[in-house]
Amino acid sequence: MSKRKLSIFEFETKNKNRYIFDNVTGLIIPSSNEDKFIIENITMGEQYILNNLVTRFFLDETIAKNKYNYIKTLVDNGYFYMSKEEKYLSVEECREMTLKSGVFQLILIITESCNLRCKYCIYNEHYPYYRTYSNKNMNFEVAKRAIDLYFELYQKKKENGLKRPPMISFYGGEPLIGYKLIKEIVNYCKMFDYDVQFYITTNGTLLNNDIIEFLVDNSFNIAISLDGNKANHNRNRVYIDGKGTFDTIVENIYLLDKIRKERGLRQPLTFICCYDDFTDMKNVIEFFETLRKSIGDFNIVFNEVYRYDTTYYDYCKYSIKNDYKFYSLSNNAIKTLQELQDVYIKAQEENKEVSLTLKFLFQIFSLLKFRYQGFMGILGNACAPGDKIAVDPEGNIFICEKAVQKFDIGNVMEGIKWDKVQNIVNKFLEIRYENCADCNISRLCEVCYVHFMSSDNFRFNSGFCNDKKRRINKALSILYSVLENNPYAFEY
Ligand code: SF4
Ligand code: SF4
Repeated sequence: MSKRKLSIFEFETKNKNRYIFDNVTGLIIPSSNEDKFIIENITMGEQYILNNLVTRFFLDETIAKNKYNYIKTLVDNGYFYMSKEEKYLSVEECREMTLKSGVFQLILIITESCNLRCKYCIYNEHYPYYRTYSNKNMNFEVAKRAIDLYFELYQKKKENGLKRPPMISFYGGEPLIGYKLIKEIVNYCKMFDYDVQFYITTNGTLLNNDIIEFLVDNSFNIAISLDGNKANHNRNRVYIDGKGTFDTIVENIYLLDKIRKERGLRQPLTFICCYDDFTDMKNVIEFFETLRKSIGDFNIVFNEVYRYDTTYYDYCKYSIKNDYKFYSLSNNAIKTLQELQDVYIKAQEENKEVSLTLKFLFQIFSLLKFRYQGFMGILGNACAPGDKIAVDPEGNIFICEKAVQKFDIGNVMEGIKWDKVQNIVNKFLEIRYENCADCNISRLCEVCYVHFMSSDNFRFNSGFCNDKKRRINKALSILYSVLENNPYAFEY
């Protein structure tokens, strides 16, 4: 007990009911002054606590005893108090963790070039910690070595119990610039006795009949970046000459839909929709609802444009003066998101059906309701090193496709350098121990390696942290306010 410290978070609902979130296990229980007193003073011993419950909180002795026993059992079973031990990983432990983790994905960064210049792209001047666009393209030799290395590791993980099939993702820049190479890679993978699942994230502008048929026939999971309605999309997602890309992409989406229907295939289609402070989210939602009526179901990942370590939002403020018509100031994201959330929450309270698009937009509530419970590993929600490996056009290997280029973990010629993996993991742990050790919602925070990477170093990201705490606190309160009225809410 002495080496553990209290890690609970108390929140309140609209009806002023209080709950305790146990950051150690994810349990949420109703809270009262007495419960909190017992939890906070458990080390003082039974007699001290019972005396106080009777004299300070005026509880009947039997009720006091029952309450004490309930909390004491939870504490004895590891609830509420988190271990203070600071553990770092050895090279061998990093390798072990990789070989035993339950997922494994290869991300091939086919090219660093792109035919677009999206205003919020992490490869432009607004994101100084990331690389810029270049003409570097992967060649088949690098891709082949990456796949051989991946399958070699995959085989070892399979022997350790990995059940999922191999997953290979094509990423960029714009990966379809390297379509010829993608075809070669897919054909190469067919020589192995694996049922590989292919993924591609594309800006959608280069899709044509030939490419779509190839993607459909090879059961690709396709993710297309599309920021909703034309005005919002074209504000940011533009060609190098500044022209909007919306019309081309929508035309290609209909072509894709036609081809997959002709073939009777319905492989997963996902849209990645980015929004910023100036997006009218009502227009975005309406657009996707209309699209759904004509092409059927699809997934949507809503991403807020990353707001830390960037000058993008300064650029927006500057642009408003010149391009006022492109920026929704009155119907901005804060206002429209709130209005949509009100509609969504009301429907959840009354157990009414809501659109799939709204469910995707507010999936945080569902994720929080069905949050993972149980004891967490030392990395929190960050991937185990080697859950995925990303390979750039030159064959350098990274822990993630979003990792800053400075932090490679090897290359396809020499394989993974486990000391480099260890260095990244332990830097991440060091910063977490220093800054997150007292955080009482850490198990709900998705902080990972990339949030702490700057151009050539690791540092705590306080902007991300403050924002996360504010949002989680608010979401928990809303979630439980609704659940008090409808315990079946958010179940999809
Ligand atoms: S399509 Fe992707 S890589 Fe290309 S500019 Fe846009 S965000 Fe950047
Ligand atoms: S980044 Fe902030 S919110 Fe996230 S775990 Fe660390 S202290 Fe908690």
